Amino acid sequence: WDMFVLAFVERLFRPTYKKDDFVLGKKLGEGAFGIVYKVSLAKKPSSKEGDLVLKKATEYGAVEIWMNERVRRACANSCADFVYGFFESSSKKGAEYWLIWRFEGESTLADLIQSKEFPYNVESIILGEMQDLPKGLERENKIIQTILRQLLFALDGLHSTGIVHRDIKPQNIIFSEGSRTFKIIDLGAATDLRVGINYIPKEFLLDPRYAAPEQYIMSTQTPSAPSAPVAAALSPVLWQLNLPDRFDIYSTGLILLQMAFPSFRSDSGLIQFNRQLKRCDYDLVAWRKSVEPRANADLRKGFELLDLDGGIGWELLTSMVRYKARQRTSAKGALAHPYFDKEGLLALSIMQ
Ligand code: ADP
Ligand code: MG
Repeated sequence: WDMFVLAFVERLFRPTYKKDDFVLGKKLGEGAFGIVYKVSLAKKPSSKEGDLVLKKATEYGAVEIWMNERVRRACANSCADFVYGFFESSSKKGAEYWLIWRFEGESTLADLIQSKEFPYNVESIILGEMQDLPKGLERENKIIQTILRQLLFALDGLHSTGIVHRDIKPQNIIFSEGSRTFKIIDLGAATDLRVGINYIPKEFLLDPRYAAPEQYIMSTQTPSAPSAPVAAALSPVLWQLNLPDRFDIYSTGLILLQMAFPSFRSDSGLIQFNRQLKRCDYDLVAWRKSVEPRANADLRKGFELLDLDGGIGWELLTSMVRYKARQRTSAKGALAHPYFDKEGLLALSIMQ
């Protein structure tokens, strides 16, 4: 009950908007399920609202509003700051859902890793002025650690809330200029297993470049959505049995791979890696054996970075990118991994 009252009161004091309140700006993205614009308010209210983001979504917008409402109550810092969502029936294209967020910043992780400067471009936006330290693998590794830690932290928030994102990729990670941290966006493909919302993933929603090899997150023994109360009672059990959060962990592992290896940052490079890994039956160690002997400079650089501190980065990568979901680490487990620890080397030697 407290939850409902709180949600109601919170909602009462939040600004509500309608279609005519917004002036459309630059188009930020266009997918199969909606168009995203930067917008400003036609009449500036007393408070300083700043720039906003509007997504005009198709029928899936209803689920996305629901997910964003839940996130802002349960793990607000994990995702872009959601302002408001509503049903808009008067649009020329038929009924739409309109979703509004605060404009977090200009760059997604996809923009940032495409730059020749990566990862130093990220260091300069996180720390402000560039530090006058020597550039080198150690420093690159530190920056990559910071990005990955922030991403895993946000992901742990979602997973602890019972939400699996299912579309974790650099395009859906925004750098928030206000908090100088990375946040997750685009809950359009997300599922909430605790209440059975969007229970069975629509296969066509999944991005094949970042998707884990399992086609469905829940096992095929649970082929259809039970009613909401049944799902709510069952889901902690199903969560334990199926570990659906590990789908996001695989995608996150691929992001670590892209950060470490310049050659896999392009679409074609990542697709090529996926093909190679599949040929090795998703065994990363076998993949390494097959490519390392004839590795070019870019590839050698990636291995060298992951091999720092006794190979702790490589160890973390192999614990995320695994064929079997239940053999992958969790977001919480990854955060506790010695890779993020200054005494990483020592910790690894104790573990082994
Ligand atoms: P889709 O992928 O369904 O088109 P997204 O929610 O991923 O929609 O948004 C598309 C793009 O819009 C993102 O890749 C990002 O560049 C930009 N964007 C989305 N939300 C925000 C936000 N809160 N702040 C700044 N930019 C955003
Ligand atoms: Mg997106």
